[in-house]
Amino acid sequence: MEWTQEFLDTFRNFCEKEIKPHAEDWDQNGSLPKEIFPALANIGYFGLLAPEEYGGSNLGVLAGVKSMELLSEYCGSTFFSASASFGLFGEPLRHFGTEAQKQKYYVPVLDGKKIGCMGITEPQSGSDVSAITTTAKQNKDGTILLNGQKTYITNSSIADFAIILARFINSEGEDKGLTHFILELDKPGISRGKPMKKLGLRASVTGELFFEQANIGSSESILGGIGKGFRQTMMTFNEERLSIAAYCLGVLNACLKEASSFARTRKSFGSPIYQHQAVSGMLAELYTKLEAVKSFTYRVATEMEEDQKKARKDRDPELGAKCSALKLFASVQAREGANLAVQIHGGAGFMEEYKVSRLYRDVRLAEIGGGTSEIQKSIITSSIMKWKL
Ligand SMILES: Cc1cc2nc3c(=O)[nH]c(=O)nc-3n(C[C@H](O)[C@H](O)[C@H](O)COP(=O)(O)OP(=O)(O)OC[C@H]3O[C@@H](n4cnc5c(N)ncnc54)[C@H](O)[C@@H]3O)c2cc1C
Repeated sequence: MEWTQEFLDTFRNFCEKEIKPHAEDWDQNGSLPKEIFPALANIGYFGLLAPEEYGGSNLGVLAGVKSMELLSEYCGSTFFSASASFGLFGEPLRHFGTEAQKQKYYVPVLDGKKIGCMGITEPQSGSDVSAITTTAKQNKDGTILLNGQKTYITNSSIADFAIILARFINSEGEDKGLTHFILELDKPGISRGKPMKKLGLRASVTGELFFEQANIGSSESILGGIGKGFRQTMMTFNEERLSIAAYCLGVLNACLKEASSFARTRKSFGSPIYQHQAVSGMLAELYTKLEAVKSFTYRVATEMEEDQKKARKDRDPELGAKCSALKLFASVQAREGANLAVQIHGGAGFMEEYKVSRLYRDVRLAEIGGGTSEIQKSIITSSIMKWKL
């Protein structure tokens, strides 16, 4: 606990110096400097969940969530690009990678020397992960050729490595199911689209990856086992959903700070606006949303931390539903909270020079990425119906 607080204090100083002065410019320029990855690694942000033998501090899930919350308060784009690298790419390696895969891919990403990404979504299949059509066909000599397209991939144009979900076809031509493959993106047959223009999170690049007869090596590129990709993706999504709730919490923190400071200094009808009942009500609502999301997020983080210590067969079967419920709740609260923060700012809230306008644009992703709210609802209900309540 002490170590966590010590880290959070150091990390807040880092964010004040290295993120806060630049976040607006990065957003305007539509990209992050690559140096931010090693800087975040050096301060210890990437290693919070990583075992010590891989250079991590292993402070645990709750410490990780509190750090994500902090970074998100300063810059959503940095949060999402960093998460795609050490989280979406790194966490499946931590859980399912072989020692050789960890040394080759996990360690350099944790060091911030390399950047990772995760490619699940395709132009015709987002919510319906089982419908993906990218194939990985094995030749008689064991080499695997990847064909297909991924879209909306965070870090697509800056990543060195990717985990790609594809349908594995063995050398006999049999479909062996969805499988994760780890690959280096600078190989022949792999190309990238231009970064897409987005509503928010503009400094976190998002785009397409194309695979045309790309030779991705042989069985050493398979992560976790043939046909295990769907299940591994769903386990990764649980962590992603918790991390998106941490992001929402950071957004709510930032909204409350910005809105309360504005309401103290802005005057109308002869008094600071917070003294008007309607504005004070909005601030109170914002605070209540923040506290509710904080309690829920920290509780699920604590439960996930405990769960990760258990043997696989003893894992909490309800944790997936809780992560979905948390993301569903947190993303709506954060969007509504950002809306209140803009409203409290009046016309200023519509102007790019005020941080709340960026928070408002960015937070819309939380109800879409990592599975839409509608998909979270269907996961929750299908879990409820399996329980004997
Ligand atoms: C900024 C950004 C970054 C992203 N980063 C990544 C990344 O790094 N890697 C990656 O793989 N993907 C990434 N994504 C993709 C993201 O995960 C998908 O956009 C998301 O899962 C939704 O898929 P879709 O866009 O295809 O929407 P669709 O699946 O086409 O859904 C469209 C609408 O239909 C609804 N819908 C669909 N099916 C159902 C159903 N069964 N029941 C009820 N409603 C339904 C949805 O809720 C939604 O409202 C990113 C997306 C964005 C915007």
